[in-house]
Formats: sequence, structure tokens, C-alpha cells
Amino acid sequence: MNKDAINNLYDLLQFGEFGDVNPSVTDSATFTFLQAKTMADCFQGDAPGCYLYSRHWNPSNKYLSDAMAALEGTESAWVTGSGMGAITTAILQLCSSGDHIVSSVTCYGGTYAFLKNYLPKFNIDVTFVDVTDLDAVKAAMRPNTRMIYTETMTNPMLQISDIPALAAIANASNTKLMVDNTFTPLIVAPAKLGAHIVVNSLTKFINGKNDCVAGAICADHDFINALIDVNVGTAMLLGPVLDPYRSSSILKNMHSLHIRMQQHSRNAFYLATKFKENGLKVIYPGLEEHPGHATLKKMMSPDFGWGGLIGLDVSKADVASDLMEKMEMAGVGYLAVSLGYFKTLFSNSGKSTSSEIPEDIQRNMGLSEGFIRFSIGLDHDIERTWKKIEGCLKEMKML
Ligand code: PLP
Repeated sequence: MNKDAINNLYDLLQFGEFGDVNPSVTDSATFTFLQAKTMADCFQGDAPGCYLYSRHWNPSNKYLSDAMAALEGTESAWVTGSGMGAITTAILQLCSSGDHIVSSVTCYGGTYAFLKNYLPKFNIDVTFVDVTDLDAVKAAMRPNTRMIYTETMTNPMLQISDIPALAAIANASNTKLMVDNTFTPLIVAPAKLGAHIVVNSLTKFINGKNDCVAGAICADHDFINALIDVNVGTAMLLGPVLDPYRSSSILKNMHSLHIRMQQHSRNAFYLATKFKENGLKVIYPGLEEHPGHATLKKMMSPDFGWGGLIGLDVSKADVASDLMEKMEMAGVGYLAVSLGYFKTLFSNSGKSTSSEIPEDIQRNMGLSEGFIRFSIGLDHDIERTWKKIEGCLKEMKML
């Protein structure tokens, strides 16, 4: 289904000013005009093809944005200086004082903190639900609900959001469905399944090199144009803009995303199966017993597998710490947050990227103090990696 995305990206013909196969980097904050009237028109949004200022649009950012729109199957996109820049800008564009949001309780810790701790400043109320419980989502809707927020594959529990069902709930209440697709680029195209706005942290799989932070908001023309409206657009007024050099480097990395996603998924499936065969408590959507397996199967493009993330629950925080330290020493990968890197990364979610979520809520959502989130790398010889992990587990008498 999502073959379209990679084909659309491949078919994008983006040239530089001298026919350069990589579009030139536009290293300018401002742009000159030969006629004053054209500048005035540009500020009114009435001068197609002209650029006014790089906080609004920069040609390098436009190339990456167009590539993101092609990838997510939306009319348009706007790239940001981080994933959080995309999420917060899109939410603040959509919601005003007095509005209400229904959100998945399982989501990236920074997003949770923004929804829970920051939005009250703007008199925006949030109800957190188990997003896989569609009755709970419906029950949480209020007349002033402006949006349902979720992640396609949630961080860190790897729950699967049923995008078509959530879109139906949103549409029935005349609200919007916003989906963070950071864990599943190419695997799932939420906009094709009914999501109205798709946000991404490009920091992760899409860039894949862990050399920068970046984000993107993908939506229809109206939403993206409203974001950059000079009078009231949240992006234009808060200014979470991406540097054009970074846009240029991310764009080049994006063109190998399809091959990387296949390898991340292949390796993750192999390791998840090994964890399972050895009786460990593993969470991986590619395993048939995962509660979201069938939902993901119905939404995904099989070409790109089940994703590169695995949860391993070793129950206790000190056991998790010991195991992670041993794995780092054994060369399995790095004890580090983030994901989508060519090396395997692992961290204890409850003590790191989900530490913003109070411990009682962590336990409620099934996040134990010994939950290790793995982002599996591009290892050529994953059997060899398994042997290293197996060695650590044996040393700890866990096997
Ligand atoms: N969304 C998800 C699912 C994430 O995991 C993260 C970061 O870990 C973000 C958004 C935030 O992205 P960034 O770090 O690029 O701001």
C-alpha cells in the first residue's frame, strides 16, 4: 500500500540551480526583489514561487518539505527544527484556549509533558486514554474536543493505534486526528488511512544518522499555509524553523530510508524472535501474540517490515542497568536514548525518555521499571549480535 510513498519520493525531480543532482543549499535568511510590489504581494501570500524570509520558507526547506509530503502522502508539509517543534507547533495551531484534546497516554515523554504540564497555561485540557480502547476514546470525547492525538506505534510500549477507527471517531465529532509517525515511516502512512495531520521527528529513522534534530508537519495545503500565515500562523510567529544546511543533508539521507527500514525491521524481527524463544518478556508488534499485531498488519506495507523497535521487560531497574552496561561493553550498541540510528541503541524508558510520566501512570500503562527499549541497528550479521546479547544474558544468569 505504501509503495506509493517511496515511488513518489523517487519520482520527485529536485535539481539545483546548475542542474546539480542534489538541490543547492539556499544559504540566505532573506531574499531580494526587483520590484517593490512583488515584495508586498509576497507578504500577502500572493507571489507564487517567491521567497520572502527563511523563517517563512527557504528553498532548501521546501525541497525537504515536498519530500516529506510525498513520503506521508499529504498535499503539503513544513519542516521544523526538532520533532517537538513539529508537535507543539501543530497542536498550538489547531487548539485554542478552552479546547480539549484526547490523547494516548502512551506517547513520547516530551509530548506527554507538553500536553500535561504546558498546555494548561493556555487553558487547553487533555484527557489521556488507552488509545487501543476505542470505547474509552469515544467516551472521552467532549463537545469542545478539538483533536485526538496518538502515535502510530506508541513510545515506548509499542502499542498500535488503529488509525482508520480513530479517524472515524474524529470525523464523527468533527475533530482532527493528529498522528506522530516517528516509529513507522514508510511502514504506515497515517494520512492515507484518515489522519488529518501527521507529525514526525526526522531526528530518528528518516535522517538515520543521529547528527541533528529535526521534525516535520505533514497536512493539507490549508493547514500548512495557515501555519505560516504572517499574522496568525504558529510556525511563522513562534519560529521553530530548520536550518537549510540540515534540510539538505536530511533530504539526501531520506533517499536510503526504504533500504534502512527493511534492515532495521529484519534485524529487530530476528532478535525479538530470539528473545521470545529464550522465554524473555519481549514486546514486538511483529510477533503474533502482540495485541496490535493484526491492527498493524491491516495498516502496514509489508515491504518495510514490523519496525526496528523492541521492548524487553526485565522487571527490575538494576537488572536493566546491569544488562545495558554489559551489552554496551560487549559491543551490542550504545546505552543512549533516541532511535533509528545505524547502531543499536538501548535505554531504560521509565528512567529516561518516559521519565516525565509519573511512576504510577507508567505502571498503569504496563511500563515496568525494568523496561528496556531497543532501537535495533543496521547490523549486517545479526546472528553475531544475538550471540553477544546471549553472552550478556548468560553472564547475568538470565538464560
Ligand atoms: N516523537 C517521538 C515518538 C519521539 O520518540 C521523539 C523523541 O524521542 C519525539 C517525537 C521528539 O523528537 P525530537 O527529539 O526530534 O524533538
